Amino acid sequence: MRAPQMDRISSHFRRLKLSKAEERVEALLQEATEKELTYSDFLDRLLSEEVAAKTDKAIQMRTKMARLPYLKSLESFDFKYQPSIDEKQIRELATCRFIEHGDSIVLLGPPGVGKTHLAVALGLKAIEDGYRVLFASATALIAALAKAHSENRFEERLKTYVVPKLLIVDEIGYIPIERLGANLFFQLISRRYERGSMILTSNQSFANWGEIFGDQVIATAILDRILHHSVTVSIRGESYRLKEKLKAGLIKKRD
Ligand code: ADP
Ligand code: MG
Repeated sequence: MRAPQMDRISSHFRRLKLSKAEERVEALLQEATEKELTYSDFLDRLLSEEVAAKTDKAIQMRTKMARLPYLKSLESFDFKYQPSIDEKQIRELATCRFIEHGDSIVLLGPPGVGKTHLAVALGLKAIEDGYRVLFASATALIAALAKAHSENRFEERLKTYVVPKLLIVDEIGYIPIERLGANLFFQLISRRYERGSMILTSNQSFANWGEIFGDQVIATAILDRILHHSVTVSIRGESYRLKEKLKAGLIKKRD
């Protein structure tokens, strides 16, 4: 039978919501006795396990809240396949210093070259470092803003996209944006400007953004704010999706 003191210790941990400590205390006490650990060593182990469990849980929670389309890491990114990417630059970005400084990142390139993969991987690094992150495709984000606008809830909705420390807007330029959408997107950019970082991805060069937003003036205003504090990563190369096919010689490499 468990000693009453052990029950009391367990209930203290429960009350303090230290569930990992509650789960592990008996085993760690036993280990401490066997290995003749000092009190401070024992306490250190117990608290370290609790902190690790809490950190893990917080990361899982923030990952869920980020609504990433898939989970891919920088570790699984094959830099050799995409020599136009400066690996050192991406590793520097992965330190998340750009978020501390409120800088943004623009990833440009044709389909399949790894823009979303890199955006997700950097988002995960930010989550690990304790930042709140939100991912949205440009189309979904603008549709959500337009819907909220029509329902007189624009301000409220805008907050959803302004509060996270890092906002990832994927696939700008795949679908043209209507005038109202462009306007609402501009308001979002203005609100985040010099406040929170963004990662934007696009298959279109900046020169074509006027066309995407259907209005050169708005596009210039948007770009002006985004580019003021930002790093642009231009990826030129083959689609990774075609990698296997290229390898098998099914299609010819682009010149
Ligand atoms: P896009 O540039 O169109 O956003 P994605 O990032 O979605 O392309 O990449 C397409 C697919 O190929 C994804 O499954 C992604 O994980 C994978 N991929 C792209 N580039 C690489 C790479 N260099 N190393 C490993 N996987 C890659
Ligand atoms: Mg993509």
